Amino acid sequence: MDLIRECEGAGRIGISAHLKPDGDAVGSCLGLWNYLRTALPGAQVTVCLQNPPVVFRELPGYEEIVSAFPVDAEPFDVYFALDCNRERLGDVAGAAFDAAKKKINIDHHISNTGDGDINQVEPEISSTAELLFTLMDRKYVNKDTAECLYVGMIHDSGVFQYSNTSPDTMRRAADLMEYDFEFSRIIRETFYEKTYLQSQIMGRCLMESGRFMDGKCIVGLVDRKTMGFYNVTSEDFEGIVNQLLNIKGVEVALFLYETETMEFKVSMRSKEQVDVSKVAVWFGGGGHVRAAGCTMKGTFHDCVNNLSEQIALQLEASAGSNE
Ligand code: 5GP
Ligand code: MN
Repeated sequence: MDLIRECEGAGRIGISAHLKPDGDAVGSCLGLWNYLRTALPGAQVTVCLQNPPVVFRELPGYEEIVSAFPVDAEPFDVYFALDCNRERLGDVAGAAFDAAKKKINIDHHISNTGDGDINQVEPEISSTAELLFTLMDRKYVNKDTAECLYVGMIHDSGVFQYSNTSPDTMRRAADLMEYDFEFSRIIRETFYEKTYLQSQIMGRCLMESGRFMDGKCIVGLVDRKTMGFYNVTSEDFEGIVNQLLNIKGVEVALFLYETETMEFKVSMRSKEQVDVSKVAVWFGGGGHVRAAGCTMKGTFHDCVNNLSEQIALQLEASAGSNE
């Protein structure tokens, strides 16, 4: 795909990613925004995202992000859905995407079958940001674009640790570093740094976590009461599930938080033996082999029982194949 050719002659271009945008979602949208503004100075380019996390506030373009469009707005000439399928865009961006004259879907989730007129879905690539960079003409990439794409890559690759990191990922990251942004500060401030409150919630969740299946699985929970007590939102839970996975002996980490009574958002991570995207898809969610999620209804114990059944099937199969 040639990003610029697809946008040639477009007056208005929209860009969105999934609800509850993470580093790759925000980095990809703002990376593409900076790129298209440079390459096509005559076009009006808009990023629409719901509640982009404040840790990304210093990325170039963050202040320009909108969360709604005027009711009488004309359809966009081109609309990009990044890092997700149509469904996960939510109502506002979803409607704009549906009405657009040309819909482009760019993603790296294996579960995405492509909802655009033009689709570029590459599950082998670490992040949508990395995929976008492969589609860009370097002539129009500047420091702002590079910084945003780099943020997307570090978040989805866990600062180049997760198994989705390839030699090509490192080469592309190296090319981005040539633009001389403050990579060290950006990684610290957007990926590692937590507020004191966020650290306390994480500590409490780890302390109250439970292990099962001989310590191969661990589950952490934050319920609504606790969220209310600390006055925190789901944004404050970033990193908890990864910390659970870091525990020695754990193969699969589950983190659940209560979204409403008898409803939980589930985050799953795995080391080597379990494809958590299969577990997530089984329960109506999606994601990647080593990081996936879904929403489940029922009591906390029902949810964990149902999840553990699916995980056990895979752990048993894996143990069987090693015998
Ligand atoms: P996280 O646990 O960080 O929220 O999500 C991990 C991965 O799973 C991300 O790639 C995310 O996009 C995907 N994911 C999380 N929840 C859902 C969900 O409910 N549906 C789908 N399709 N993907 C999800
Ligand atoms: Mn992503």
